Amino acid sequence: MTEEKIYALVRENVKQLTPYSSARDDFKGEASIFLDANENPFQTTFNRYPDPHQRALKAAIAKIKGVNPDNIFVGNGSDEAIDLVYRIFCAPGKNRVLIPQPTYGMYQVSASINDIQCDHVSLTANFELVSTEILQAVTTETKVIFLCSPNNPSGNLLEPGEIETILKAFNGIVVIDEAYIDFCDTSSWTTRLSEFPNLIVLQTLSKAWGLAGLRIGMAFAHVEIIALFDKVKPPYNVSGLTQNVALDILTTQGKAKKEMVEKIVIERNKVVERLMSLNIVRKIFPSDANFVLVQVENAKEVYAKLVKSGIIVRDRSNVTLCNDCLRITIGTESENEQLIDVMKQL
Ligand SMILES: *Cc1c(COP(=O)(O)O)cnc(C)c1O
Repeated sequence: MTEEKIYALVRENVKQLTPYSSARDDFKGEASIFLDANENPFQTTFNRYPDPHQRALKAAIAKIKGVNPDNIFVGNGSDEAIDLVYRIFCAPGKNRVLIPQPTYGMYQVSASINDIQCDHVSLTANFELVSTEILQAVTTETKVIFLCSPNNPSGNLLEPGEIETILKAFNGIVVIDEAYIDFCDTSSWTTRLSEFPNLIVLQTLSKAWGLAGLRIGMAFAHVEIIALFDKVKPPYNVSGLTQNVALDILTTQGKAKKEMVEKIVIERNKVVERLMSLNIVRKIFPSDANFVLVQVENAKEVYAKLVKSGIIVRDRSNVTLCNDCLRITIGTESENEQLIDVMKQL
């Protein structure tokens, strides 16, 4: 797909849009007296509007991810990036998106909020992606395909060859959500950005970095798409406090993050092994993430038993292909042991 074709996918009102120009955008030079943004000079912390372009934070992310800062959007969680994809590319009441099932629920919710219809295609029983089935479901109104790899709630990576086929054949945007990419050894699709102008990769600081409370999500794409994100986003979408804290942690805690991920992966393998020995467990789906999807004899019963012991897991038993399945996040060694102990009693 060429870059001109990407521009043709953009919503008419977004093409026409004159973006908001903030005080910090209008003046870019050096100055010592700022009387341009109606800020309060007497307060000494957080009285200034933050950098709307998050330059320092993007530079740190760029270094860690091996991506150019111009290819990065930073948002208030991945949720903001998902919403922006709809607002940039999908005309309400007209365009459609394609979402393999089961997957992360936010793609559907965000579509509904934006009055966009979703077409669902089931993954296989082992949650594998079949590109031909996806491409068959594309209509003339389909603007975006959402792929989640490793997939939530199943935990598996989607086959790269199938994703590549979709990226090449689909004349629209392909979003690959890599919220859990740091828990597996596979390289990110960000390494292939230059090949695919229609690719948007989503990542987050909420999982491997352990910063869900900060609300930092990232989108990686060609500069043309990042420019569209910047055009449509609220000017100060990431607070100064959040930018400072994220920058500090990213630049000082790289080793600690790596160690946390290693610990979680070791714990995950231990949890899987222990679950396998339980009578009530029917199936454990292989996981490339920090959770496992487990099929049990009676999910509602197991769920209720765990709740009674103060342990909350995610009941996914009403989700496509997930009959009697619980999604269990990997906790600390002690938390995981308590989980297994309670499940043993059933
Ligand atoms: C947890 C998760 C996210 C993270 O969302 P944030 O808004 O960045 O916290 C994104 N996508 C998937 C599939 C997830 O499971």
